[in-house]
Amino acid sequence: MRFSRFSFRLNLWYASIFILSAVLLFTAAYFLLGTALQRKDREVIESRLNEYAAIYQSRGISTLRAWIDRSGDAQQSDRPLFVRVVNRFNQILLLVAPPEWVEVKPPTFELGIPQQVVWLRIPRSAERDLVLASMRFPDGSVMQVGRSTNSRELILDPFRRIFFALTLVIVALGCVGGVFFARRVMRPVRQIVSTTQSIIRTGDLSRRVPHRSAEDELDQMAELFNQLLARNQSLIQSMRESLDNVAHDLRTPLARLRGTAEVALRANDEPAQMRDALADCIEESDKVLTILKTLMDVAEAESGLMSLTKEPTDLRDILREVVDLYSDVAEERRISVTPHLAEPCEARVDRTRIRQAFANLLDNAIKYTDPGGRVEIDAHKHGNEILIHFRDTGIGIPAEELDKIWERLYRGDKSRSQRGLGLGLSLVKAFVEAHGGRVEVQSQVGRGSEFIVRLPS
Ligand code: ADP
Repeated sequence: MRFSRFSFRLNLWYASIFILSAVLLFTAAYFLLGTALQRKDREVIESRLNEYAAIYQSRGISTLRAWIDRSGDAQQSDRPLFVRVVNRFNQILLLVAPPEWVEVKPPTFELGIPQQVVWLRIPRSAERDLVLASMRFPDGSVMQVGRSTNSRELILDPFRRIFFALTLVIVALGCVGGVFFARRVMRPVRQIVSTTQSIIRTGDLSRRVPHRSAEDELDQMAELFNQLLARNQSLIQSMRESLDNVAHDLRTPLARLRGTAEVALRANDEPAQMRDALADCIEESDKVLTILKTLMDVAEAESGLMSLTKEPTDLRDILREVVDLYSDVAEERRISVTPHLAEPCEARVDRTRIRQAFANLLDNAIKYTDPGGRVEIDAHKHGNEILIHFRDTGIGIPAEELDKIWERLYRGDKSRSQRGLGLGLSLVKAFVEAHGGRVEVQSQVGRGSEFIVRLPS
């Protein structure tokens, strides 16, 4: 209801502004037209005055009378001319005026004001104005030339009438246009409202606001709203999946834990057996906890919700730390680890997460390489990326397993003998991708593997 009131207000604003502008436009046009006509009247009358004054002064009053009669100016029925000449005793020497004007008796000329245009209003009932110009001559006589301005009224009157008729049309048009535009403008908002209502009603997160190709702000709002819905949907989807996965992945170790506990219960009077079973239980619980923690980290990174504390870092420092961390294990297995870290490799990363990813890759390289083998780490800048290679001379990965190794809890057939949960590479992938990077692998069975991490610099 509030929505429709808003669109009504929009409509009202639109209609009022439209009508007001139209009225202003007409009023301005009316006054401009009126002023132009008035100026024209004055110009005509002043030029006649000058013309008649010249004739009067050079040839006298009778020539002027003959001139006026001949020119026919006085006979023009629509715009009759008024000419009057009085001497300095205020006696009329010449009077040319339409018959009906004689009755009206134009007021006597006021001496002392030489050349001036005077407005003279004949009674309003006559519905006409007179524009009057006068000139005083050196002998004291005065000439007045006037003209009715009723033709001005003739032009302006229909204009006024059209204007009032048009006002009604404009008001109607403003209201109809207002309703039309308010409905059009509010359409994306209405669509957002109905989409939201339908999501609330049905719980169907896949509903979207219909897309329009126009690029105005409201369409952008609808587009952003759709993006928000898509993001929410994918977050909820990935949360559901994570929950399913965690439940699924924890089932096996928990079943094992339960089995071990049952064995302990059955070994009634055998303290040594019970102690062994309890130790197994603790080991299994630790495994469950590690799995849980890693699964949560991977799920968080994959959903895009992981908060990364990125800071400018030379990745060589992290690699040196990791190599240092694994030096004992490598030595124990008689594997040489050689870092090639010649050039600076600056990138904005979350050090803890990237250290974890690098550690997993080095851990795998050492774990899956037979004693006496080699592991080489190489980091360099390539375009706007930093490339880090982990190369080993280990057992390699069969081609059919190359896609699967990134899956959670996947363990290669030949790897079962080694410790591991099958979560290392999924964590590497999730963390590197959370940084906007990629991780790739190349491998040949029996010859070794190469993992390449690409991070934006
Ligand atoms: P885990 O090492 O715990 O088994 P990972 O997710 O780290 O789990 O690796 C998944 C699988 O990928 C491993 O079981 C192994 O088969 C294969 N793999 C990973 N790294 C290497 C490597 N450097 N050399 C050979 N195989 C590897």
